[in-house]
Order: sequence, then C-alpha cells, then structure tokens
Amino acid sequence: MTLLRTTNLTRHFSGITANKDVDFEIEPGEIRALIGPNGAGKTTFTSMLIGRLPPSSGTVHFEGADITALPAFERVRLGMAYTFQITSVFANLTVQENIHLAARRQMRARDARLTSLTPALLEQVGLAGRDTDLAADLSYGHQRLLEIAMGLAQNPKLLILDEPTQGLAESEIAAFKTLIRSLTPKTTILLIEHNMGLVMELADTITVLNAGETLAFGTPAEIQANAAVQAAYLGTQDA
Ligand code: ATP
Repeated sequence: MTLLRTTNLTRHFSGITANKDVDFEIEPGEIRALIGPNGAGKTTFTSMLIGRLPPSSGTVHFEGADITALPAFERVRLGMAYTFQITSVFANLTVQENIHLAARRQMRARDARLTSLTPALLEQVGLAGRDTDLAADLSYGHQRLLEIAMGLAQNPKLLILDEPTQGLAESEIAAFKTLIRSLTPKTTILLIEHNMGLVMELADTITVLNAGETLAFGTPAEIQANAAVQAAYLGTQDA
C-alpha cells in the first residue's frame, strides 16, 4: 500500500500560490528526495504533510487514511517523524534526555523502556557513549545526528528530513549517507535537500517542485537528463 499520498494539494498565502495541485506518492521502503529552487514550495508542502499548515485545498492520506485534518502530534503517533531545517535539540538537556523527550511524543513509554532504547539509537547514528553529554556540548554535526536519533526514537514509518546535511562537513555527510541507507527499507525516507550530489547518490526517486507545482518525477538519472529540470533548477542552482 502507498505510504503517503497527496491529491491536488494546494496552499495559497494572500495572493501567492505556494503549492498548486501537487499529487505525490511515496511507497514503503524508498528513499525519496524532494528538490526544487528556492521558493519552489518545498517547505510549504512539507508543512502540510506533517500538519503544521492546513492546505487551502486537496488531501493527504497516510496508509490509506485521510489525515488532512489531523493535528501534527496525531500524525506522529501514526508513524510520521520529521526533523527541521533548524536544529531542534534542547541544548540544556543531555543527549539521552533529548531522545526520551522525542520518544514520549510517540509512545508515552516508561523510562525503563526508553533507557534501554537510547544506547542502540545512539550507536545507530554514530553517537555511541554520548548519552550523558549535554546536547550543547556536541558539535553542530553531532547535534544534527542527535536530531535524527530523536526522529528514530519515535519509531517512524516515514522519516522526513529537512536539509539534514546543511552545515555538515564532508566526512559527516559520508556518515549520514551510510546511516540513511541503513534505515531502509524499514523506515521510508523523504529527504528535502539542496545538496545535489547527495541527492543523486542517495535517492531512489526524486520529485522536483518548481513554482509550487510538480515539474518532474523519476530516478536520479532521469532527473539529471530532464531538460525542463535543467532549465528550471540545475542550471540556476545556488547551493
Ligand atoms: P527554500 O528552498 O528557499 O526554503 P521552498 O521551496 O521551501 O524554498 P517555500 O518556503 O515553501 O519554498 O515558499 C514557497 C512560496 O510561498 C514562496 O513564494 C514564499 O515566499 C511563499 N510563502 C511561504 N510561506 C509563506 C507565508 N507564511 N506567508 C506568505 N508567503 C509565504
């Protein structure tokens, strides 16, 4: 069954159409990238997926159920997790406290279960042994990895990552790639990303938004060879 589907998803902001009739589907287990030039409507689209912004019209379905009107926290319970463009860890809490907080959003579990979950998650993202460090003491790259661990603590079916590699060093990006590959097919990935090299290497399929509408969908090779995409995006890429 299709994991996530949008139909005619549209959002207006006082005269601006940020998204227009976007039809979008993700199948379980895939790594999908969502790309497009600045202002293409990626953030608006993602906000409607996760329930931060109501659409002007159109629908969002998750595992066949219409979630268009569901608040964000209920979408998290259904299995959608997301990390933001802006780092969202709590600096004054420890690594493990951050993870416990994120996990509670999903399962309201007891501390004992959370405590046993944390080392495995930290191992998975490459932060083994950092449990009791203050998040503020982690490097920027490690804070981004902690965010991913926080997303994974919610045991998501779909993990939405908004510009996860922004500000990461090359070596950290290499580790990020390995991590993302290790999550599939159990976790489906939607990656909003400006780093074209990374997208071409990591994504199974790519959706290109331009001026709020879907311009193209295909494999990395198909997208690279797509003349409309080159004209709209790759030629004017600024990141
Ligand atoms: P970027 O890559 O720069 O983050 P984006 O692809 O995420 O861009 P959006 O941020 O979704 O694009 O913006 C799409 C369009 O909608 C832009 O023209 C933007 O100015 C407009 N827009 C987005 N949010 C609002 C808002 N809250 N109020 C008014 N206009 C908005």
